[in-house]
This record gives sequence, structure tokens and C-alpha cells, in this order.
Amino acid sequence: MEPTESRTLDAIETAVAEIAAEMQAREDRGEVASYIPELARVSPQQFAISVALRDGRTISGGDWETPFSIQSISKVFTLALALGKVGDNLWRKVGREPSGNPFNSIVQLEHERGRPRNPFINAGAIAVTDMILSGHQPKEALGEILRFLQFVSGDDAISIDRSVAASEKATGFRNAALANYMKSFGIVENPVEHTLGVYFHHCAIAMTTRQLAMAGRYLAFEGRNPDTGHSVISLERARRINALMLTCGHYDGSGEFAYRVGLPGKSGVGGGILAVVPGGASIAVWSPGLDHNGNSKLGRDALELLARRMHWSVFG
Ligand code: GLU
Repeated sequence: MEPTESRTLDAIETAVAEIAAEMQAREDRGEVASYIPELARVSPQQFAISVALRDGRTISGGDWETPFSIQSISKVFTLALALGKVGDNLWRKVGREPSGNPFNSIVQLEHERGRPRNPFINAGAIAVTDMILSGHQPKEALGEILRFLQFVSGDDAISIDRSVAASEKATGFRNAALANYMKSFGIVENPVEHTLGVYFHHCAIAMTTRQLAMAGRYLAFEGRNPDTGHSVISLERARRINALMLTCGHYDGSGEFAYRVGLPGKSGVGGGILAVVPGGASIAVWSPGLDHNGNSKLGRDALELLARRMHWSVFG
């Protein structure tokens, strides 16, 4: 290892340990999502962070061995899969603009005649899931999504938390409304219950921060799996997914996240965030308490601290 590399590694290790200790001691931790009953049972007293580097080394702190529900972070991976399947035709059905509205807004969808603003709000992600499903049985589509996550993280142990999926299905009336509405415009093509079934299950994939940080490496390193050099997606596509994460990855809090953290990131209501340092690292954080926009409160604070200490930013 070069001396500068080893200094960087030391700096990351120290920062990760100190940030984990600080976050574990924080009292104001936000509110755990309660609209999915299974998520409401998760203790907010948890915090985890993992940083994955180009060479596969990971630096972790806190509860990084505990799997959590990745929820909307799965949308980064389904977008990559759907782009691989249908290419830029995807953008005929889904836009690329920040929404400025809550993640499950129905009003906006009506206003825009059933075409979701971007692939990361719920309506957009349901439309993307529908594209992956076309031509397959729901089980096959779900298997494809799960295998993709196992492949990019290099870990076959990743699985779906069926109780979270069932819990969301039982209470997912708003997502059902969005899907039915899009079906009426032909944006959703498959039977609504099939599309929603696949969507609820991919949101219910459970991962540790370490697995998630490893899974995000292709977005940080030119669309390639840095271990093998093989292309997962093209460089251009990786850049574009990162651009969408930066502008739309935190719902109505995307501007604040870009301002404070300065990195592309995608959050989920399970309290996870995946953040990308292009050419530098892939970072996953998790803490179940959310802020008023539905983004992990301590997760964002931790990323802000880490980015500042490491001088990581896409803005120079
Ligand atoms: N499965 C969640 C839902 O559809 C995802 C929302 C999120 O993580 O932001 O409501």
C-alpha cells in the first residue's frame, strides 16, 4: 500500500469510529416510520456505518452486522436493471425532475397525467418495477432483482424479509392508488397486484450497511465491479444514476442533502442511506429514526460529518 493510501485509510478508520460513537450517544434520533407496521417495531437506538473502497476493503462502525430494510434504496438497483432492459425508452414513462412533493404524493401524479416525476418517488419506482416485470412472472422478476443485489454486493446471503413485505402489502393503500392510477394511463402494463407484489418485496430486501456499501461500488467506480473490472452498467449510465440520486434521492429533502453532504445519495424509510463518492468510495449508513421528509436523521448527520472530514464532495 502507498503511504498516502495508508494515511487515507487511517483517516477513514478514525472518522468512522468517532462518528459511530457520537451517533450512538445522540438523544434526538427522529421518528421511526410507522405507516409500515413491521418497521414501527425497529428500535431507533441503532446506528451503523460502512465505507467500501475500490479494492474491496470496508471500514465499519456501530451496528453494521444488523440487517435492516433497505426500502427505497432498492430503487437505485431496479432503475439500473430496468435501464439495462428497456434502455432510454424508460424515460417515455418516467421523468427526471425532482418532485418537491412527499414521496407518495397522488396530487402531482394527477397533475402530470399519470407520468411520475422521477424514478425514485414511489409512483416512478412502481412504474420502473412494472418494466422489469413485463414478460416475466412476478417470482422471476423478483428473483432477478435479488440476484442483481447479491451479485453487485458479492454476497449470496442477502434475502427478502417476508414479514416486512406482508406488512407493507397489508397497509399499502396509497401505493395501490398510485399504481391503479398509472394503470389507467397505460404507464403500468401488468396486473396491478403483480407489479405491487414485486415492488413491496424488493423494498423489503434486508441488508447490512457493509453489504449495501459493497453493492454501491459500481456507482462509485465507473459502472464497473472493481474486483473483476467487469462492467455492470456503462460509465455514462452510472453518472446519470448518480445525478438522479443527487437531485431526487431524498424526496423533498434532496436539496438539503446536496447542500449539507454534497454527494449523490438515496434514502429509504427503513433509515438507510447509500451515498456515492465518485472515484473514491461507496458509503452506507443506517439509523431508523427519520426527519420530517422521511430521511434518516442520524444517517444524514453522519454522512455530513464524514464528507466534511474526508473532503469528499462532487462540488470540488
Ligand atoms: N416501500 C416504501 C413505500 O412504498 C418505500 C418508501 C421509502 O423508502 O421511502 O412506501
